[in-house]
Amino acid sequence: MKNIAVIGAGTMGNGIAHTFAQFNYKVHLIDIAQENLDRGMATITKNLDRMLAKEKISEQDKDQTLANITTFTDLKEGVQQVDLVVEAATENEDLKLKIFKQLDEFCAKETILASNTSSISITKIASVTRRPEQVIGMHFMNPVPIMKLVEIIKGYSTSQEVTQKIMDLSVALKKTPTEVNDYPGFVANRILMPMLNEAIETLYNQVGGVKEIDTVMKLGMAHPMGPLQLADFIGLDVCLSILEVMYDGFKNPKYAPCPLLVNMVQAGKLGVKSGEGFYDYSESKKAEVVAAQFK
Ligand code: NAD
Repeated sequence: MKNIAVIGAGTMGNGIAHTFAQFNYKVHLIDIAQENLDRGMATITKNLDRMLAKEKISEQDKDQTLANITTFTDLKEGVQQVDLVVEAATENEDLKLKIFKQLDEFCAKETILASNTSSISITKIASVTRRPEQVIGMHFMNPVPIMKLVEIIKGYSTSQEVTQKIMDLSVALKKTPTEVNDYPGFVANRILMPMLNEAIETLYNQVGGVKEIDTVMKLGMAHPMGPLQLADFIGLDVCLSILEVMYDGFKNPKYAPCPLLVNMVQAGKLGVKSGEGFYDYSESKKAEVVAAQFK
């Protein structure tokens, strides 16, 4: 595999494009608007500059990585002659089904179609294509250039040959791929999200404050980040949508999102990206100032 298309230049898409390009794959980065592509490329440049400053890469590596990426606003044009597409567009089922239908039409018949979805069924995504055995989940973690795990999700029909190719490709990116089956939340979010939801529930029940809950988990369980800080970092809207997929998929009340999480998302308090969640980020992205309502 040499030519990779990445759909979506947001948080995950630009990280995925960066990672492939750094390992000398030719990347077609595709988004609906040029300004999103420009923002994505600016983030990649900033992240490469940071790696350069830490002497993790050379000036030449930086230039080569950037030269390996070409941007497109036209999906059909962007997916011509690629071996693999990694879709990292907004987490919305209807949108992903529409994109995969188009991909099936526009891509060569050998092209493997992967999704970076956090929670949407790979089997369902595959069902709108005529190549379900070539559709797979390639779930990178944020920030992509740094995090080692790639959760590889086998849909009901995904072939062993395609799974092995994607496992090998992940190793070539110096990542550790881990193969899992396609059920709501896969493994990463099935375990993580109930923990984050429980931390929110603990706050909601006034068992402890934001700082207390995060301190218990950081110092008591050796977690690098407390669960409320992590929820802010992921995005409270993203957490809510993943919990809803799990609640809906298993029909089990243990996955029901905490009403406080629902309220915060409805109020537009989405965490780091909106400037406020469980912490206040108006002055810095570091979770230092506890939001007044949770003091
Ligand atoms: P984001 O909102 O930062 O970026 C999404 C991008 O997709 C935007 O730039 C948007 O313009 C673009 N887009 C929307 N429709 C498109 C289309 N039809 N064609 C091309 N581009 C389109 O979202 P994100 O956080 O990068 O998430 C992307 C995917 O990665 C989601 O499926 C999400 O569940 C998954 N994911 C997110 C994280 C995370 O921590 N944010 C972690 C793992 C997986």
